[in-house]
Amino acid sequence: MSSVLSISNISKSYGPILALKNVSFDVPEGSVFGVLGPNGSGKTTLLGIVLDVLLANNGTFSWLGNLPHDHARRQIGSLLETPNFYHYLSAFDNLEITAAIRQKGLDDRDRVLKQVGLFERKDSKFQSFSLGMKQRLAIGAALLGGPKVLVLDEPTNGLDPAGIAEIRELIRALNKEGITIIIASHLLDEIEKVCTHVAILKKGDLLLSGPVDEVLISEDQVEVRAADMAGLQTALQGMAGIKKIRLTDNTLQLACDTNIGPAQVNEFCISKGIVLSHLLLRKKSLEAKFMELTN
Ligand code: ATP
Repeated sequence: MSSVLSISNISKSYGPILALKNVSFDVPEGSVFGVLGPNGSGKTTLLGIVLDVLLANNGTFSWLGNLPHDHARRQIGSLLETPNFYHYLSAFDNLEITAAIRQKGLDDRDRVLKQVGLFERKDSKFQSFSLGMKQRLAIGAALLGGPKVLVLDEPTNGLDPAGIAEIRELIRALNKEGITIIIASHLLDEIEKVCTHVAILKKGDLLLSGPVDEVLISEDQVEVRAADMAGLQTALQGMAGIKKIRLTDNTLQLACDTNIGPAQVNEFCISKGIVLSHLLLRKKSLEAKFMELTN
């Protein structure tokens, strides 16, 4: 998998405040990449630097491999702040203004309105939109010109749970269309559900980065149940790669080596003639991991 963004040793200070300290990571093509951290951890500063709004004191970054800078920039859509849409204009007319300001073609408006699920409402005034719809329109504006990469800073700020779910679904759908999405957020819970990769920042330090599965893998547990729980427990005690077995609420929780997952557990049980009535991979939530790291 090639990188759409490569960040190398970026540092940034605002006077005495060190907002970023030697931050390096790569954003793989096709990922939904969460830049996560509590307030003030440096997320917005980092996005500002890679989008040429701010200058780093040290370090380098490159977009889309060796593409010349201007060429690469045309392939990046971003939403750092909500654009100033006109309340009394329709979604379609607002996008005309945005397209003109950003020098994108006007003929792209129908396409992006369809992409963000607002095509049916394209002639409705902006003021009649829910907060979630307003935010989807803002994401639509960032999609003008058909970028390969979309960069979103706190896209669910201020939204209610329904609005957050709408944005999450949109992120999933856009990613399925092949767009790499970089999303900064302090709301771990919401991000956990869509991210394939994460970088976690704390006070300007990069605590970890990588695929969500790898970063969290040691915390995973497999849960199992069967009609004969005692028989199941005895059998699993003889399975290689299971580090710990815990019985809670009539469920066995298995702490496994990294090469053991639900498929291996299921296969083992079948080989012992045990039919599982429940099989679940429970990942330690990113939220819990995040709290542990940032506390
Ligand atoms: P938030 O989620 O609150 O937006 P963040 O993770 O995006 O936080 P930044 O906004 O990048 O973090 O801020 C990182 C640090 O740099 C903070 O300590 C912040 O106070 C400081 N900072 C950011 N912008 C400036 C500025 N223009 N002048 C001085 N300090 C700044």
